[in-house]
Amino acid sequence: MSREKTKYHLLKVIVRIIPIQIRSAPWNCLLENCLGVMHGLMFALSVMVTQRLFDAISDGAAGRASYRECVIQLVLLAVVTFGQQIINGVQNFHGIGVLLPKSAGRLTELIHRKIRKIDPVRFEDTAFLDDLNKAKEGIKAITMFCMLIFVCVSFYGVYFIAVGIYLFRLKPVLLLTLLLAFVPAMLAQTIHVRIFASLEEESAPLRREHDYYQKAICDREYFKETRLLGAFGFFYRLFENTMKVLTGKIWRAERKAALLRLLMDFTTFAGMAGSAYMLFTATMSGEITVGMFAAVFAALTQIFAMMQEVVVRQMGNMNRDVGKVVNFIRLLDMPERDGMEGEIDFTKGITAENVSFRYPGRNAFSVKNVSLHIAEGETIAIVGENGAGKSTLVRLLTGIYRPTEGMVLVGGLDTGSYSVSSIMRGISGVFQRYQRYKMTLKDNVTISDYTAQADSGRIRSVLTEAGFEKGNVGLEDMLSPEFDGTDLSGGQWQRVAIARGLYRANGFIILDEPTSAIDPVEETRIYRQFARLAEGKCALVVTHRIGSARLADRIVVMDGGRIVDIGTHEELIARPGQYARMWEAQAQWYERG
Ligand code: ATP
Repeated sequence: MSREKTKYHLLKVIVRIIPIQIRSAPWNCLLENCLGVMHGLMFALSVMVTQRLFDAISDGAAGRASYRECVIQLVLLAVVTFGQQIINGVQNFHGIGVLLPKSAGRLTELIHRKIRKIDPVRFEDTAFLDDLNKAKEGIKAITMFCMLIFVCVSFYGVYFIAVGIYLFRLKPVLLLTLLLAFVPAMLAQTIHVRIFASLEEESAPLRREHDYYQKAICDREYFKETRLLGAFGFFYRLFENTMKVLTGKIWRAERKAALLRLLMDFTTFAGMAGSAYMLFTATMSGEITVGMFAAVFAALTQIFAMMQEVVVRQMGNMNRDVGKVVNFIRLLDMPERDGMEGEIDFTKGITAENVSFRYPGRNAFSVKNVSLHIAEGETIAIVGENGAGKSTLVRLLTGIYRPTEGMVLVGGLDTGSYSVSSIMRGISGVFQRYQRYKMTLKDNVTISDYTAQADSGRIRSVLTEAGFEKGNVGLEDMLSPEFDGTDLSGGQWQRVAIARGLYRANGFIILDEPTSAIDPVEETRIYRQFARLAEGKCALVVTHRIGSARLADRIVVMDGGRIVDIGTHEELIARPGQYARMWEAQAQWYERG
């Protein structure tokens, strides 16, 4: 599958994300912008009030203005400056303390709603999982990104327009000041972005490698094996090498950026000097008053500093965050799995008609031309070597994956035309890659039924049926050392997962080898419990162990994605083939059973 991604340009991103941000907290966005406009006006006002103060003082010194007039102008400046500070404080508090958390909550909800509609098969694609994680990182970035746009438009925009009008009215050529402050800063920022974009492109694969080596050294899942195998030195050497190359690349990019900053500082200084000279000549020729000269001269530093702030810091931050925002938009634009809502009654039997399936990004078929009918109330076991396609077939028969070719019918209805949630409602099961939820033992069992009042008696009974020896673990005990709780052994966790499957008794029951850490005889006992539960329902059992497979009404033997044999246990052991060989090899496991 092509991994070619839709390109989103900055303007397109802004047009797309601003309405999303506004919908997430409309009143707060309005308030944030009003505060920005007021802040910008106050800043511009301070330039004008400063001019009147200097004019009053110079007139006062020449005896043309009273002492009282000078004090009034001074108080006015103090009020405007104080007002500016207050508005700035309120805006900061509102942006970071109110708007950001409120929007983050709403945007997270948006992602969760979207994820529920995405085809489950996408979750098998590591590139998609990568995109999903990146989209989640984008949640905070979106509000920060939009706040920057709000600030640029409402605060800086209003300030520069007001000061621009003021300068133009003083002397039109002074408008050049804004241009001189803007152009070099903008140019430098564009080059700066290019430098770091190419650094990112060059170092992204290297950083992934580097992060992986660090994980192999420190992460919980790798740590034990890395230490046990004495592989610490091996990974550390790789980690060190990648770090050296990465640091070298970063250093070279930083050096280029520093030279650029130096050049920009020089042009800024030249721009300021030029503007000051224009002011000076205008004052000397009597075009503008001393007060105007003083006010604009004082404002020059502010204008240049602000331009740099807008272009370098704010636009720099925007460029830094735009990637994260794009990841969020990409997730929202991802195609959804459509389908009707409805009750699917799996007890009515399941039929696969010429079903073939290919995972996203794979050329080879994992399941090829499978036709199978599971009758009402029938239990089918699927056996076969690793990679034969057993788990994939189960997901196709349940309707969780849609076939690439062919169709799966439940009671005559095509599962492909139903929504994922309708399908999931009819299934109960335990899968190979079950979850170890960092929650209490009770929650771990009852998680599928959060609306019902948990029945302790039933929880205990399913735990016993799954062979879970509680020891000193209570139902309310937290199963995670991370949350000050306890941890379970691999086998105990499997039994908790099985108890969870038993607790959710649904029309279609699936056991996809959740028992690898449990011995074969015990596995057979657990599967018997399931068989009892599955009476009158359709059930699928995936196993490598014949002792469990023989409990099924019929056994399907898979190889290379195809069904190579099918029959009862007795029929299959009576003819030479893969099943008979597996039975032969495993018979001694069950001598006790
Ligand atoms: P096992 O007994 O080891 O669990 P299985 O018989 O259940 O194996 P499947 O997991 O269905 O086999 O895998 C069938 C084929 O599909 C394998 O070749 C495997 O490499 C491929 N496959 C499985 N999962 C994915 C995936 N997420 N992406 C791409 N290919 C996959």
